[in-house]
Amino acid sequence: MTYDDDELLPLSGIQHYSFCPRQWALIHVAQEWAENALTVQGGIVHKRAHDASLRERRGDTIELRSVNVCSRRLGLVGQCDVVEFTQTESGVTLAGEEGLWSVFPIEYKRGHRKSIDADRLQLCAQAMALEEMLCCEIGEACLYYHETRSRERVILDSALREETRRCAREMHRLFSRKHIPRARSRPSCRSCSIKDVCLPATAKRESVSGYYQRRIGEVL
Ligand code: SF4
Repeated sequence: MTYDDDELLPLSGIQHYSFCPRQWALIHVAQEWAENALTVQGGIVHKRAHDASLRERRGDTIELRSVNVCSRRLGLVGQCDVVEFTQTESGVTLAGEEGLWSVFPIEYKRGHRKSIDADRLQLCAQAMALEEMLCCEIGEACLYYHETRSRERVILDSALREETRRCAREMHRLFSRKHIPRARSRPSCRSCSIKDVCLPATAKRESVSGYYQRRIGEVL
């Protein structure tokens, strides 16, 4: 199955979905976030994957920044911070360059390495989009964390790829039904950027029907 232009969702949303499906839905479904397919459609797939002004060469490596990517299989569209192409014996061809090149996406993050897979899933989705666009295979990619100035090499194994596909499928399912999952209060809610909108504590409250049944029982 592949998705059309008007069905594409923002790729970066996969990190929100992974953190909490409700957070993703409040941002992307309830507010129908501006960075949806309508704002990026219009040939993103056909647009050249780089801008010459965002290109830097170091030895046998070419670095492209802000590379637009799209996966019709995942139904996601977004941008890679950096894609490194290194000359190799097998790989992809590059316009204006001789030889073959390996493809290595790098995503920059402000914070530090996390125990959950949110950042890895975003990176994996970017790599899968690049594979689809360039007809290549990408075995690993990299996250760079500013706070700790450290790199994390991410192996794009079958488990991470399958979880990426599952998240993308679920995002599309929720988006097409305009469904917002119920809040489930948990420790990660404390660090949630939209907890004041979500009000997770209300999830523990009594339902309306439960309230009336209890009050009727008190009166009788
Ligand atoms: S506050 Fe908790 S339940 Fe609500 S969106 Fe954030 S993480 Fe999800």
